[in-house]
Amino acid sequence: MNRDALVSLFCELVQIDSLSKHEAAFASVIEDKLADLGLDITDDGAALRIVGDCGNLICRIPATADGFPAIMINTHLDTVGDDTGIQPVVENDEIHSAGDTILGADAKAGIVIILSALQALDDQELPHGELVVVFTVAEEIGLIGAQHLDYEMLEPLPQMAYVLDGSVTPGQMVTQAPYSDKISFEVRGKAAHAGVEPEAGINAIKIAAQAISEMKLGRLDDESTANIGTIQGGSATNIVPEVTTFKGEARSHQEEKLIRQTRHMCQKVEEAAAQAGAQANITTERSYNGFALGLDEEVVRRGIAAAEQVGLKPNLHKGGGGSDANIFNEHGIPSVIIATGAHKPHTPDELLCIPSMLKCCEWLLAIVTT
Ligand SMILES: [Zn+2]
Repeated sequence: MNRDALVSLFCELVQIDSLSKHEAAFASVIEDKLADLGLDITDDGAALRIVGDCGNLICRIPATADGFPAIMINTHLDTVGDDTGIQPVVENDEIHSAGDTILGADAKAGIVIILSALQALDDQELPHGELVVVFTVAEEIGLIGAQHLDYEMLEPLPQMAYVLDGSVTPGQMVTQAPYSDKISFEVRGKAAHAGVEPEAGINAIKIAAQAISEMKLGRLDDESTANIGTIQGGSATNIVPEVTTFKGEARSHQEEKLIRQTRHMCQKVEEAAAQAGAQANITTERSYNGFALGLDEEVVRRGIAAAEQVGLKPNLHKGGGGSDANIFNEHGIPSVIIATGAHKPHTPDELLCIPSMLKCCEWLLAIVTT
């Protein structure tokens, strides 16, 4: 793998904005790169379903030899948050952003690794099975592209998938990920003049504060977490606030524990509201289901064998977040997340370790050719 070519491709890609649901301009650059390799790409039409400007991109590459499984390779096109105008700075073995923006290595390092592996397959005429390359949109705002992917277009379903969206060291594979619920709360009390007749009001902010203070939040145990992440309410200091809304989430590697935690958070709000004579309106939604893949799964064994083949120490990891791999597993495609050499994603300190990215390219190539 040519280091300079990969670095310059990475720098080119991070300078093209690709916010969630606004990936079209960036996607057309990726389509051109694939066309240069003689590959056809199809847009699955998810743009309409998710109200974005671009669908998920699917590229089927026929097998060049027998005896290989059909493998899906995936990462996402969008970058987190609303940072635009990203300027990469290459310093020795690292790339970071020039300003106070993210770098976008999540997941553009993954895109570079995929494109360079496809280039190597072509250049070296390496034997491989059928490959289904899928670039998803709107991953960072809740795995929305993967949820609205046209799975019929993947039929017959690939036997396994590798998701290049790990911020960890080469050789590390996320084989377990949590279940997650999101919860929206609304507490409806009663407005009143805060100075003239406060006793006529029911303070929605106070009820929310009491409920939240009684919730078990943060790290609950070694496989479960919970958080209240946003809160809004009230309109003026001289009005007893009528309405407060707040949102939270819970995650666990055990579905029963997640169900229990979600119920606990709802109960605290219902109790506090009832005590004060207020109303609680709560909606809960499953964000994604978890997965746990073991050594009995070919996707795991193949990842380990390929890592060893290129001199990496395989390391199976229990992830704390959701990714498109959760959704692919739900759809019956055993999927793991593999590393890309990116560090500290979703922060202005995000950086890409160039030697790690190169090693991950070798690893991906070994996965599809052994
Ligand atoms: Zn990502």
